[in-house]
Amino acid sequence: MGATEAELDRAAVRELSASFGGDLVRPGDPGYDEHRRVWNGSIDRRPAVIARCAEVPDVIAAIGFGRDAGLPVAVRGAGHSFPGHSVCDEGIVIDLRPMSEIRVDPDRRTAKAQAGVLLGELDAATQRHGLAVPAGIVTHTGLAGLTLGGGIGWLMRKHGLTVDQLLSVTLVTAAGEVVRASEDENPDLFWGLRGGGGNFGVVTEFEFRLNPLGPIVLAGPIYWPMKESPRLLRFYRDWIAEAPDELMTIVIHRKAPAVSFIPTELHGEPVVSVVSCWCGELEEGERLIAPLRRFGSPLLDLCQPKPYLEHQAMFDPTFPHGWWYYMRACDVDELSDEVIEIVADHSSRIVSPLTAFPIWQMGGAVARVADDETAFGGRGAGHTFNITSMTEGPDGFEEERRWARDFWTALAPHHHGVYVNFLMEEGEERVRQAYGAERYDRLKALKRTWDPDNLLRLNQNISPS
Ligand SMILES: Cc1cc2nc3c(=O)[nH]c(=O)nc-3n(C[C@H](O)[C@H](O)[C@H](O)COP(=O)(O)OP(=O)(O)OC[C@H]3O[C@@H](n4cnc5c(N)ncnc54)[C@H](O)[C@@H]3O)c2cc1C
Repeated sequence: MGATEAELDRAAVRELSASFGGDLVRPGDPGYDEHRRVWNGSIDRRPAVIARCAEVPDVIAAIGFGRDAGLPVAVRGAGHSFPGHSVCDEGIVIDLRPMSEIRVDPDRRTAKAQAGVLLGELDAATQRHGLAVPAGIVTHTGLAGLTLGGGIGWLMRKHGLTVDQLLSVTLVTAAGEVVRASEDENPDLFWGLRGGGGNFGVVTEFEFRLNPLGPIVLAGPIYWPMKESPRLLRFYRDWIAEAPDELMTIVIHRKAPAVSFIPTELHGEPVVSVVSCWCGELEEGERLIAPLRRFGSPLLDLCQPKPYLEHQAMFDPTFPHGWWYYMRACDVDELSDEVIEIVADHSSRIVSPLTAFPIWQMGGAVARVADDETAFGGRGAGHTFNITSMTEGPDGFEEERRWARDFWTALAPHHHGVYVNFLMEEGEERVRQAYGAERYDRLKALKRTWDPDNLLRLNQNISPS
């Protein structure tokens, strides 16, 4: 049950604001629309109060307020959840974005990052010392939501998932207690936080191990006409079969985007690209990528040595805030001939000039961590598919969404799992699929310990019952 503006207990709000160090934003306040908006423009919700937390006591106060008032409680990092879990109607949004401090210790090779940090901010702070945390591929994504679900990106095959770098997590529980989790403190909780999402508390700070990186990597896309897709994918599966961990690739089917690094004559043309990121020694990378460059007749080759930070920002303009997004995702073991045929067929039916369909190459260090070491469920995945419909607004959204669903259904005989951070609002069975039955039961037991009343349920929910 939620509360409208009129119903919310004014005395309780006054009490909260008396001690609250951040900003409380309510309907009608300046900035209300800005702060209730999330990345996915198709989500339009009106919370009763947005608690923009500046420090840990604000988080404790906001949780207590939501719990005592019986309000829906949404927790927001950067608001990038595809289904819009970080905003709710008539409830409280605990907005961590103002808590965005980063402290890097280059000697110990560790970094502490508060929960409001964006990936680009963490990368900038760590790359100043030639170090990095493996994380995602768009700089304006929130570190908190991404990390809690696992965290896949350009460096994962070399260094593992974002959760594989975690040393400790500080969180405020549903009961309002500050708790630390690490290998030594609350190890069960630490296990669950590495993939189990925001189910067990509101994280205020992460501590990561850092890895040496770059600053120069060999990276970027090479484009071919989309009609080359079946031939290219058959070449690609052999090419990556023995690829070293330093290489991570994403294959993208889409119409060429109207961005500055693509010549105007290609804009809107159906293309398939292989985007590489080689984080090892450059000459070796050039040798490895040479056969890909030679395959067929590329339309455009933008794979070159460049700063890692530049590569990280490459996708930013093609996933802006406010467009309408819908995604169907799945893990697929291998690019069999049958899968390739489905991919080529459905990719050729993309209508929107904005829609993009990435296929992520998994494996490497991700697969070498034992399956039961963290709650993340996709260690064995060969490829992660993101069938993402994108339109500027409602026009054409329904048709594009149907395309994504049909594509996903056609792939159904070939997929078995899904990355939890790529789920929409798909129900409990799909969340269970993301973890597998055994891991899911263990997560449920953990939920019963740390949030027995399911206060934190606006997420890919692991219900305690
Ligand atoms: C443009 C874009 C690019 C992406 N790229 C990648 C990628 O490269 N790799 C990858 O792994 N994923 C990627 N994702 C998916 C991403 O991991 C999820 O969308 C993630 O949830 C985003 O985190 P957020 O903090 O921005 O989102 P939010 O919407 O703020 O939060 C997402 C979920 O996490 C919970 N949450 C947020 N902060 C906290 C906290 N402090 N404590 C407890 N719970 C919290 C929320 O309640 C919500 O359920 C991408 C998403 C987008 C939109």
